[in-house]
Amino acid sequence: MAKIKERESFRSRLKAVGLRHTLPRERILAYLDRKSIHPTPEELYQGLKKKGYPIGLSTVYLNLQVLRDSGLLWEFKDQKGNTRYDGFGEKHHHLFCLQCGAIEDVLVRELPEFDPEPIRKAVEAKNGWFIEEARLELRGVCPNCQ
Ligand SMILES: [Zn+2]
Ligand SMILES: [Zn+2]
Repeated sequence: MAKIKERESFRSRLKAVGLRHTLPRERILAYLDRKSIHPTPEELYQGLKKKGYPIGLSTVYLNLQVLRDSGLLWEFKDQKGNTRYDGFGEKHHHLFCLQCGAIEDVLVRELPEFDPEPIRKAVEAKNGWFIEEARLELRGVCPNCQ
């Protein structure tokens, strides 16, 4: 039952941005919709294979781009310049460890209120950009490295 519900939600998420539902897209979204999961395309490819989902690396790349362009995934670079993907549905910020490179999610709802509104307004007035969202990048040293 949970599985069917899950599939429905990925289907409607894809539909909402005008994308067709395909199995690779669903599997990529399902794989990425977890806390502190930020794979490179290669890591995602290996991870899906390990779960028993055979999928081509080029299919992974292609679908990551499509899903990113539709706003279903967030693409970012880690400190080493690797491109990584984030599909965790809950609003969060990123913690980067400057020593081991670990990337952890910190949920917005577990933090004191952060109001990006004044920053957004200032940037729009000063730079003439239209800002759609604000994310925090917090850099420091993780518990393992301390
Ligand atoms: Zn660390
Ligand atoms: Zn994240």
